[in-house]
Amino acid sequence: MSRSIHLLVVCASALSLAALSGCRTVPISGRQQFIMKPMQEETALGLQAFQEECKKEVVSNNPLYTAALRSCASSLVQVAEGGESYDWQFVVFASEEQNAYCLPGGKIAVYSGIMDLMNNEAELAFVVAHEISHAIARHYGESSAWGSVTDLGGQVLKSINPDSAASTLYDPLVKYTVNLPFSRKDEYEADLIGMILMARAGYNPSAAIEFWSRFTEGKEQSALNGLMSTHPRSVDRINAMRANLPRAMAEYNAAPQKKNYGMQL
Ligand SMILES: [Zn+2]
Repeated sequence: MSRSIHLLVVCASALSLAALSGCRTVPISGRQQFIMKPMQEETALGLQAFQEECKKEVVSNNPLYTAALRSCASSLVQVAEGGESYDWQFVVFASEEQNAYCLPGGKIAVYSGIMDLMNNEAELAFVVAHEISHAIARHYGESSAWGSVTDLGGQVLKSINPDSAASTLYDPLVKYTVNLPFSRKDEYEADLIGMILMARAGYNPSAAIEFWSRFTEGKEQSALNGLMSTHPRSVDRINAMRANLPRAMAEYNAAPQKKNYGMQL
């Protein structure tokens, strides 16, 4: 067997083994991960949970916030490696809560309470890109907590009357998926991928550090909720973002269209 053919056979074997065991490479970070559940399961649960959330929350009618989210989301999904097949949906909820989240499969909500703290579209682009990163890095699928969520779903299924309303089933699932803590590793990875994505979409990645410094300033870790409560210490996180900045700035300098800080908020 020639060397090149032999190499081809080795590669093909490695690829089929990877496909069988659910190995994949996280876009941009290049980290190898192992996922047992098929993507369709994540997507279906994410969609159900999102629909339930949309029924409970009030969608914001703030035209500036809606336009800013639409603008940055449309640019970001174009550069979201690995998210080409996702059915992305983005919504602003009218709430004082200072939070944003992503459900599996690419359903992203930003609360107006966190947008009130933003100076410009680039800061929003970072928060949205961070959430997009959780989706394309498949952090839900990877986390062991995901197993608990689906197990919980099974327990609920067994315990309820099959004729019960779907919302009875999905209420606890929504609670766990929306509040599901990511690991520190996932948060650092979502920050890195998010900064690269925003830069590729033409937003100045310095805005990520500016926003995060302002958002966390003076807040005790224990007093932070939602977006922050499960995240690494803010000072460690900002230091990690600073370390990401040269790589992100190189991407920004190479971006075909520059929006810099985008529209003012
Ligand atoms: Zn996160």
